[in-house]
Formats: sequence, C-alpha cells, structure tokens
Amino acid sequence: MLILVINCGSSSAKYQLFDIESKRHIAKGIVERIGEKRSGCENHYESIRIIKDRLLNDGAFVESVSEIKGIGHRVVHGGEEFGEAVIIDKKVIESIEMSSELAPLHNPPSLEGIRACKRYFPGIPQIAVFDTAFHQSIPPHAYIYGIPFIFYKKYKIRRYGFHGTSHRFVANEAARILKKPIRKLKLVTVHLGNGCSMAAVLSGKSVDTTMGFTPLEGLLMGTRSGDLDPAIVTFLMEKEGFGIRRINEILNKESGFLGVSGISNDMRDVLSEMKKGNRRAAVAFEIFVYRIKKYIGAYAAVMGGLDAVVLTGGIGENVTRIKKELSRAFRPVLRGQAKFLIIPTNEELLIAEDTYRLVRNKRLSAEGGSD
Ligand code: ADP
Repeated sequence: MLILVINCGSSSAKYQLFDIESKRHIAKGIVERIGEKRSGCENHYESIRIIKDRLLNDGAFVESVSEIKGIGHRVVHGGEEFGEAVIIDKKVIESIEMSSELAPLHNPPSLEGIRACKRYFPGIPQIAVFDTAFHQSIPPHAYIYGIPFIFYKKYKIRRYGFHGTSHRFVANEAARILKKPIRKLKLVTVHLGNGCSMAAVLSGKSVDTTMGFTPLEGLLMGTRSGDLDPAIVTFLMEKEGFGIRRINEILNKESGFLGVSGISNDMRDVLSEMKKGNRRAAVAFEIFVYRIKKYIGAYAAVMGGLDAVVLTGGIGENVTRIKKELSRAFRPVLRGQAKFLIIPTNEELLIAEDTYRLVRNKRLSAEGGSD
C-alpha cells in the first residue's frame, strides 16, 4: 500500500512516498524557498501541486493518484486537544487553526498543505500526526509553569514539548534493540538536530521534556538559547532598548552555538574550530554537553532509574564523542547499568505507519469490521 507523507515547514514542503509493507520510501523530495520569487513556488498550496506533478509525471512513481491510499501530514502543534494521530475532518482543521496562534510559522503552512491535498489528491484520507501529541501524557506538575494560573486558563500557556514523533520512534526502536517490552523501560531520548530536545520516557510514555511552551526552552541549539533566566529578557530590553521583535530574533536566531561561539549554528563548524583551539567554540560545545548531562540526571531521578539513553538527530547520530562523554560521566553513578545508544530517527516512517493504521481501521469499520 502506498502512503504519502507531507511535511510543510515554514518555507519548505518535504515529501516521501512509502511502500508501507516494505517500510521503504520509493520517492522523496523537497520543494524549497516557498514564497521566494526565484523558487517558482508562491505558497504551500502550490507546493502540493508541484509534488503531485513530480510523483505522476517527472518520476512516474504512480500512474494515478488513486494508487495512494492515505496522506499523513506532520503538524507541529496540536495544542491540548490531540494526544495521538487523527483522521482529518472539518473539526480537526478548525482545531489546528485554533492552535495556529501557538505555532504561527508552522501550523498555517500545514493547513495550506491539507487544503491543497484535498484538491490535488481528492478522496484520499488525510491524517494529522502532531509533534506535540507524544508529550500530552506529561503530568501537570511538569507542564504547569510557576506563573499566575490565570495565564494557563486564558492563553493555554504550559509546556507542550516538540519532536514528539522522533522521541516516540527512537523509544520504540530502543525497546526493540534492548529486546524488552517498552512498558518495562525507563528511557531518556535525546534528539539533537538543528533544534534539540530531550524526553523522559517511562513505560513508553513521555513524562517530561525539555522544550516548553515554544521550541525555545531547554538545550542549547544551533541558534536558540535554550534555558535562561527570564529576567535577562527584561534586563536587555531595558538596557538596549530592544522591542519584542528584536528580543525574539536574538533568542531564536542569534543565540545557541552561533551566539556563544560567534562562528556558526552548524555543529560541524563548531567542532572544527574547536580542534583548532578556539576557546569560544569549546565553551559552546561544553555548555551543550553539560545541559544534556544535567537533564539525564534530572530525568533519571524523575523516573526512579534509567535503562538507556538514546541519541538521535544529525548531531546525536554523527558526533560519537557526545555518547562517549555521557557514558563516561554516568559510569560511576549508574555503575554501567544504563546503556547509551545511537539510533537514527525516522519521523516520516512513523507518520506513514500511523497513517496506514488509521486508514486501515477506517476501511475496516466501513466494511463492518470484517478483514
Ligand atoms: P533538522 O533538525 O533540521 O532535521 P538534522 O537532524 O539534520 O537537522 O541536524 C542538523 C545538525 O546536525 C547540524 O548542526 C549539523 O551540523 C549536524 N550534523 C550533521 N551531520 C553531522 C556530522 N557528520 N558531524 C557533526 N555534525 C553533524
């Protein structure tokens, strides 16, 4: 069965066409620089037409769209409403619209992608898989911030967490590799890409995560600051006369590895400068590893133990030095009881599998439950 996975980011649309039985993609690509003149793609709606064209005409991956049995969309923010993947209908679209305020750069492109798929892939069931969904199992003591409760009520300010699909994928893979049922495992999953986050996964459920109300909190990232004293924000606004837009830019686009090292947001550049003896590059890397260490300790305490730490994402999968440093640091504390694993993430495959499961259930219930 063929399942199409669409990931509409702020300025790109990625796609993969999966043959679900073999768990392999048969086509994969990206429409980039959406909205820029030279890209030839005005908006995300248009990007779906381009994707259809590539699948049917350029690559001849399918002869007709009806060969595709389901379309899975990555949607960044599902608010408090979605704890798992859902079949998209009018109500789901309304809910995603309502969560757009919480993810203004990401949810609107996803909605455009969904609307365009309705037109260009008519009659094919569409499924939404949310980045936030896996973290909906986090208890209130981990998701309520210490500010007046009225702001949670009024604006839904709370910890949501992101990268949920990646954390869920690698947690399941870890259980498979460790040959243990996931309900018996205490895992810390560490997703280190351009954005970086960690999750405490107890019995297969996320019980805490480092990203919060937005993807700014927690670990040091390429250009994002991660954790910081909120008073720094008001201090800088006062001293430098920064407005809201400027302070947002600094924390999201000019901080992290880039801000501390003054070199680059790319870990490869930071590492190569570090080798040449650049002290600020070394400090950026030390902060990065230190925070990961701190959260592993915190999450082991939260879960009452630790079976494995799983590293993934572009940095987690390639910079083996991080795994070595972490396992060395925890050896005396955990006495070798926890394993440190590197597992490549595959969010798209999990989205395809969720889509397949929901499409299959929908078909079965339409057929009256017979297989
Ligand atoms: P995204 O979050 O956009 O999916 P990735 O998971 O691809 O990003 O991770 C991007 C990060 O991974 C960048 O900081 C990049 O420097 C780093 N990275 C990718 N490959 C390597 C490598 N071979 N060695 C060190 N860092 C790498």
